[in-house]
Amino acid sequence: MGLIFTLNNNSSNIEIDALTENIINNIQSELVKVNKYIVYGTHLNIDGKLKINLTDNNIYEVKLILKDIKSTEISYDVDYNIDENGITFSTSDEINGGINLEEIAQGEYYILLKVVSNIDEIQSDNYYLLNNKTEYENVEYYTITKNNTNNKINISSSEDLLKGILVSYMNISVKKNKLPVDIYDIVIDPGHGGNDPGAVKDEYNESEIVLEYSLNLKNRLEELGLKVKLVREEDKYIDAYGEEGRGVVPNLVKSKYVFSIHLNSSDVDMETGGVEVYSPSNSNLYFPKLIADNIVSIANTTYSPNILYKVQDGVYVRNYIEEEIIEAKKYASELGYEEYNITTDTQYMFMIRETGGIATNAYIDGRNTKYGVNKYYNSNIGAEGYLLELGFMNYSNDLNNLLNNKNAYVEAIAKSIQEYLNIK
Ligand SMILES: [Zn+2]
Repeated sequence: MGLIFTLNNNSSNIEIDALTENIINNIQSELVKVNKYIVYGTHLNIDGKLKINLTDNNIYEVKLILKDIKSTEISYDVDYNIDENGITFSTSDEINGGINLEEIAQGEYYILLKVVSNIDEIQSDNYYLLNNKTEYENVEYYTITKNNTNNKINISSSEDLLKGILVSYMNISVKKNKLPVDIYDIVIDPGHGGNDPGAVKDEYNESEIVLEYSLNLKNRLEELGLKVKLVREEDKYIDAYGEEGRGVVPNLVKSKYVFSIHLNSSDVDMETGGVEVYSPSNSNLYFPKLIADNIVSIANTTYSPNILYKVQDGVYVRNYIEEEIIEAKKYASELGYEEYNITTDTQYMFMIRETGGIATNAYIDGRNTKYGVNKYYNSNIGAEGYLLELGFMNYSNDLNNLLNNKNAYVEAIAKSIQEYLNIK
């Protein structure tokens, strides 16, 4: 794609040159400074700043554009702010919002900021290239398997000559590509395992029940054509981090989503039980709400009565609270490592936090030698993670339902995934 901006000496390419000119002619010399560039789940988000002199300009539209060589434009709304220094924009303030990579048609595109202004009643469309100022360069992404096909998406940051001047730009290439054997659409994490049974009630262990659930869910999702990996397929202990850790596997196999399956229990006797779906913060909660609603209606259960961290019926967002941040600092100084940068924006649930990379403030970088390393903690590509507490083992109605109505829970989760990912 770099050739587009080079002066082309190949005379057989005159037609393409004319089209190229068409793109180049509208491109302004100022560059957009990109300061955030993240792929989370199936979505791309870019934040940036364009320094331009806005005197007398009446700007009435700012969009992020994917533009191909035929000048076809795919347009995305951005949140933007204009002041005397220029335009600051963000594709979304939700980590799972912004540009849906699944919906981009095959092709080669430049990523441009389009600014439409109106001066003396003459409209002008100005396009600006993106200069990637983040520490992240190129991203490789495989779309979710649909009808046994996938696209491979490459997002690149490059430098090239534009009319003899060296400029930076970002582009996206979307090509049909068979999914490599070691790459998966979805990872399911059956909680606990081995010498960690999780919650226990009478002869029942959480670790065994959630494994059966997870195996059934994998089968059901495979029937929908999805490629699914389980973190464990037997009753064995799994480390949180390290090469095969449950918090690492989703990124190792480039899965777009990870579902951690658990059963709840509480210290007090429960009047009622029900479902809790833990979700990333700063995210759109449509999907977890769909999962919670479907479980309640299809598995004939209820929303959990627990109000702590609850944001909607059945939907929970669990970040660190002040007391826990103080505890974490104390713990770090006791063990003699430099404390992590944990804030009230940091996810508490490690299966949501560590699998999401920088989007969810993952931080297990190995400084605390008691744990292994999450080698993707600093990744700008992360899996979108949810932790499902299907019901309470110490509440007999829930336990009976969980033991005898498994297919309904599995069907509810599978149906939610099918609908959200638009799988026919
Ligand atoms: Zn559990």
